[in-house]
Amino acid sequence: MKPPVHSPFPFDIRTARKTGGRTDPGSLDEYRLSALRAAVARARRNSPFFRSRLASYPEGFPRSLGEYGALPFTTPDDLAADPYAFLAVPQDEVARIVTARSSGTTGPPKRVFFSEGDLAETRSIFAEGMTALVPRGSGVLILLPGERPGSVGDLLVRGLAPDMEGVLCSCPDADGTLDTIARLRPDCLVALPSQALRLARHPRPSRGRCLSAVLLCSDYASDSLTSAVEDAWGCTVFRQYGLTETGYGGALSCGEGRGMHVMEDGFFFEIVSPGTGELLPDGEEGEIVCTAFRAEGTPLLRYRTGDRGRFIPGDCSCGSFLRRIDVRGRYGNGLALPGGWVPLADLDEALFSLPWLGGYEVRMNGSSPVFFLEVPSLPEGILSLPEDLEREAGKKLRSLPGLDILPPEIGLCLAPPRDAPLAPSKRLVLRETHPDRTR
Ligand SMILES: [Zn+2]
Repeated sequence: MKPPVHSPFPFDIRTARKTGGRTDPGSLDEYRLSALRAAVARARRNSPFFRSRLASYPEGFPRSLGEYGALPFTTPDDLAADPYAFLAVPQDEVARIVTARSSGTTGPPKRVFFSEGDLAETRSIFAEGMTALVPRGSGVLILLPGERPGSVGDLLVRGLAPDMEGVLCSCPDADGTLDTIARLRPDCLVALPSQALRLARHPRPSRGRCLSAVLLCSDYASDSLTSAVEDAWGCTVFRQYGLTETGYGGALSCGEGRGMHVMEDGFFFEIVSPGTGELLPDGEEGEIVCTAFRAEGTPLLRYRTGDRGRFIPGDCSCGSFLRRIDVRGRYGNGLALPGGWVPLADLDEALFSLPWLGGYEVRMNGSSPVFFLEVPSLPEGILSLPEDLEREAGKKLRSLPGLDILPPEIGLCLAPPRDAPLAPSKRLVLRETHPDRTR
């Protein structure tokens, strides 16, 4: 049974505080413009990179949102090339340095600096965001990394207190994590999509039935994966979108329908054509470009995220006045095949609809993809033979453009449940095939 969506949506309240309570599009635009102007002025004053970039721009820039849309993008390569050129606070005011990669784990590393103010902002976003999922006083089990001070799990746990009880769980496997859930009986689970699916598709997933809400974050979550988690536990699944570079904030779903509401009080998103960089209208898919209004350590103006997304036209049935964004994974993450480009997001959508699949890996063997499918337990009934599962998966894969010509190679991994790892890592296409893993 689904719990009612908590209303009003917490980021409606946060944003209305900035607009003097007004919720019409004109007032939002007015707020965005003044927040962008302040962010530009601060970046120019404090960050050598933006001082140089904005040297020829007049004081008071931008005078309009259109004018802001003409500012050159900041790219992950800019940040990787010289992170200290972005640093906008004195070095002794840096509370945490995070090293992130440009695209998943394949690009050059880049450093991002966070001040105490930045970390406090993240904790506040987490704390208020969680009230959209479960009532105050709830228990929250967190599978994200949280051992180090300032890490995402640590910020979430500290942000929750004292309104909710947050517990970090670092159990490495699915079975142990489900035991922990059964023992602690949290109301909400926070996990990466791949972790949540492994738990939901475990042979004994019922230990998670106490959960009323699951928050999927740190990676793209397909609709098929989201449905699998909802079906396993009868809970509401929420999705969150944010970048490490901008302190994890960005957008959060409300539990109704598709998409995530933009945290408009702190972030400005644009959707641009990945080829030409031109702004795209609502509904059209392109690259997500992000500006964080209040970032202190590493300000980023018009930062190219490398993520595919679009604004969803129209209003959400939850009543929020905040725009919704639909995110569809990363641009560079997919398979380059002779038949065309197959995004990882499309593979996820197709494969996670197989009710027996706990996870998968795909590696390129030359120009041929090899799929390794994890089967936590063989399903009962007609589809009980590995050959049948391979055939069913092959059919799903061949339905995708680009994989329709070449019959994909499939290997099943009939792992005992205790072996199913829950490592907090993002999903990526692995570029090489290890000889031991081919069939
Ligand atoms: Zn909504």
